[in-house]
Amino acid sequence: MHFSELVKYSTKLKRTHSKNAKVELIKNFMGRLKKEEAKAGIHYISGRIVQGKINLAWRGLSDLLAMAGKKGPSPELVEVNDFLQRACENKGRAKVEVLTPLFVRLSQVERKHLVALIIGEVQQGAGEGLVRIAIADFFGLSDEEMERAYLQKPDIGELFELLLGRGKAAVEKITMRIFSPVKPMLAQIAESIDDVPAAGDVYALEYKLDGIRIQVHRKDDEVRVFSRHLRDITAQFPELVSVARYLPARRLILDGEAIGIDQKGRPVPFQVLSRRTTRKREIAEAQNQVPVLPQFFDVLYIDGEDMTEKSYAERIQVLRDVVRDSQYRTVQVKPSTRKHAVDFYEQSLARGNEGVMVKLLQSRYRPGKRGKFWFKIKGAHTIDCVILGAEWGHGRRRGLLSNLHLGVFDETRTKYVMVGKTFKGLTDRMLQWLTDTLPRYKVHEDRWTVYVKPVVVVEVAFNEVQKSPKYESGIALRFARVKRIRSDKTSKEINTVIDLVQLSRIALNEA
Ligand code: AMP
Repeated sequence: MHFSELVKYSTKLKRTHSKNAKVELIKNFMGRLKKEEAKAGIHYISGRIVQGKINLAWRGLSDLLAMAGKKGPSPELVEVNDFLQRACENKGRAKVEVLTPLFVRLSQVERKHLVALIIGEVQQGAGEGLVRIAIADFFGLSDEEMERAYLQKPDIGELFELLLGRGKAAVEKITMRIFSPVKPMLAQIAESIDDVPAAGDVYALEYKLDGIRIQVHRKDDEVRVFSRHLRDITAQFPELVSVARYLPARRLILDGEAIGIDQKGRPVPFQVLSRRTTRKREIAEAQNQVPVLPQFFDVLYIDGEDMTEKSYAERIQVLRDVVRDSQYRTVQVKPSTRKHAVDFYEQSLARGNEGVMVKLLQSRYRPGKRGKFWFKIKGAHTIDCVILGAEWGHGRRRGLLSNLHLGVFDETRTKYVMVGKTFKGLTDRMLQWLTDTLPRYKVHEDRWTVYVKPVVVVEVAFNEVQKSPKYESGIALRFARVKRIRSDKTSKEINTVIDLVQLSRIALNEA
């Protein structure tokens, strides 16, 4: 297919408003792709390039846009991809030189489109989500089949290529493959150990370590390490390669966490460990400063056997056999009583870990899933918040101001912003005091809520900070509860949005 045709499809997509019609259009486009251009075509129709980014400065892009005249026929999609690939492998101005012979063959509209693709700004109201729906429709895959296929082949271009080559039957056959990382299984947050099903032979508890998620693949002497976002981070962690290379299995995929350790072998905080995600030439130095240790907790594949369908109980047994040295495994117990579980949780926090993970022994490995199989229970943090409002209580709390609107200071907006609500942790005395005091600072009120000036400070405990579109601050506290009223503090002394973001590593986790 010529690039000019892709641009026509994209323009039609932009003009089409119904979702179904867009999907039909994408399917029509798919039907016209040849095998060799399938991967690039799928990426382009979802508004991206195969390479992700090619780091071209804006100046270079505007020079390319301004190139004179359209010479010769519109390039084939495969050619476009080859040019972009070469640009990727060059540096600075050389990228522009590599791309020049491509751009002179494009019309003005096509150039604009290619630049939009390069910078990821194609405006056509159809992205990866819609293309995924179209792929499922095109090959007649059920939601479940598609989900499974996508989780195991997260690159939609490669997925389409595979389906095109082998048809629907390929889905069943997609299993764990060495050097094709899958999205790691995730955990749901639980407030306390009491939220988790009864103890006994139901779950195992592990330390929740403050490190970097790793998926280590090994085939004979070759080892590769992938991050939570499936980036190849092998070069940054030579120690992990050494450990994996000496394990007694030739073909292996392990899941775990890499932690940083100090001179005495004690875990270091994540902030220190993050120095290891550094530029390549500084690796040796970083390695000296912060050596890392793998803490494996799961095995997904071993010597020809896909372990993801097996229960967690079976997988940890195999893990023990293959990672025999316990210093490379995450500390784990099967608690026999709830007290045993609580003691383990406290022991984990006392060692400086984030909390514990609770994993159901009967669960299989679900790549990319956050379900009711793994739970994370974090240790509590406390901060000082200001009360911005309070809602009248119900039932036993009728007539009392109860559900508190909690705020922190936002440095960029220079005002107090909400980060959550809570009615938990308030004693009868506190409730009475708040009901007597807050109305004095009233700004306005409605049927349910009294909104107040930011004067009263409360100390609040919570387990986690999460992103939230609900509040202007963009973040919300999970499981917030009031510890005490801080009459000794003023609203000038409370915590800030930046404090919370730092605590939560929200930005870092997304890197
Ligand atoms: P969170 O990032 O708070 O959603 O917690 C999930 C993350 O905890 C995982 O992606 C891992 O990086 C990390 N983690 C630490 N210890 C464990 C463990 N024992 N099992 C699973 N994940 C763990």
